[in-house]
Amino acid sequence: MIELDGALGEGGGQILRTSLTLAAITGQPFRIRRIRANRSKPGLMRQHLVAVQAAGQICGAQVSGAAVGSQDLEFIPGRLQGGDYRFAIGTAGSCTLVLQTVLPALLMAGTPSTLRLAGGTHNPMAPPVQFLQRAWCPRVAEMGARIDVRLDRFGFYPAGGGEVTASVEPCPQLAPRSWLERGERRDCYAESFSAGVPGKVAERELECVGKAMNWGGEQLRVRGLPGDQGPGNALMLTFEYEHVTEVFTAFGEKSVSAENVARQAVNRARQYLASGAAVAEYLGDQLMLPLALAGGGGFTVDEVSMHARTNAQVIEMFLPVQFRFGARGGVDYCEVGPR
Ligand code: ATP
Repeated sequence: MIELDGALGEGGGQILRTSLTLAAITGQPFRIRRIRANRSKPGLMRQHLVAVQAAGQICGAQVSGAAVGSQDLEFIPGRLQGGDYRFAIGTAGSCTLVLQTVLPALLMAGTPSTLRLAGGTHNPMAPPVQFLQRAWCPRVAEMGARIDVRLDRFGFYPAGGGEVTASVEPCPQLAPRSWLERGERRDCYAESFSAGVPGKVAERELECVGKAMNWGGEQLRVRGLPGDQGPGNALMLTFEYEHVTEVFTAFGEKSVSAENVARQAVNRARQYLASGAAVAEYLGDQLMLPLALAGGGGFTVDEVSMHARTNAQVIEMFLPVQFRFGARGGVDYCEVGPR
C-alpha cells in the first residue's frame, strides 16, 4: 500500500488525481491522508469526489472514504477496463480534470473507450476543453495516443451544464518524446467565448488584446454562444507553432473588467513568449504523467512550479522513473528517465 500525505509540496488536488490515475494503471493500492491540506477548504470537493468515482469505475476499485469533505481515502484498484462510461460531475465541477484523471489510464486498457461527461467545460483553475484539444491531445498523439475530445455544449463555472465526449484507443506503450523548441510560428489568434453576457464584453476584451499584441481584425474572433449555455465568458489566446500549440485563458467574472480579463491572458502569454520555452507551465504539468508512462522525455518550460515538483514526487512513488529539473541555454527544463 502506497502511503501519501496530501500536504506534500503544494498540497492540492493534483496529488490525488495523479495517484488515482497511476493506481488504476499499475494496480498499486494507495492511502492518502490530509487530502488538499493546503487549500482553504481541505478535503474532497465534489469534483475530486467525481474523479475518485470515475477512476474507481474504470478499474473496479474498492474505495473507502469517498465523501465530500473527506480528508482520508483508500483506493484498492481492480482490473482496468475500457468501455462506454458516463460521468455526471454536477454544477461546479470540471469535466476536464476528470478527463485528466481517467484518459491516461484508459490508454492502458485492452479495449477502446468512450466517455460522456456532464459538468463544467470552462472552469477557472482547470484546462478549458480547447486546451486539451489544441495543446495536449496533439502532443500525446505524437507519443502514440489516439484520444479525441469533442465539446458538445459549453458549461461555464459556476452554472456548469456543459457536455464533453471523449474517445480513447488503447496504447499500451507510449513513446518517449522531447519538446525543446517551439519551432516557427504558424498562427496566433484570440477568441472571446460568451454566453448570456453583453456583446460589448467580448468586443472590449478583444480590442485590448489587439492593442497589446498588435493583432489585426481577423485574429480577433468573437465567439457568441446561445444564452442557455451561460452565463459565462472565456478569453482564449492560441499560439500555433511548428512543434507545439499553446492556449492561454482568462475568465470573465462579474467584478472584473473586460480590460482586466484581457490583461491576465496577455500577461500570461507574454511570459511564455519571452521565455523562449517550448511549453508553458500548465501544458508542462499535463505532459509529465504521459512522459513518465513512456519512460522518458522532457520539455523546456517557462516556469517550473511547485505544482510540477509535487506532481513529480507523486509520480515517482508509483513508477520507476526520476524527474530532473534544471536549465538548458537559460531556459527551464524538465526531464524524466528511468530510475
Ligand atoms: P485543488 O487542490 O483546488 O483541486 P489543484 O492543486 O488540484 O487544485 P491546480 O493546481 O489548480 O489544481 O491545477 C489543476 C490542473 O489544471 C493542473 O493540471 C493545471 O495544469 C491545469 N490548469 C489550471 N488552469 C489552467 C488553464 N488556464 N489552462 C490549462 N490548464 C490549466
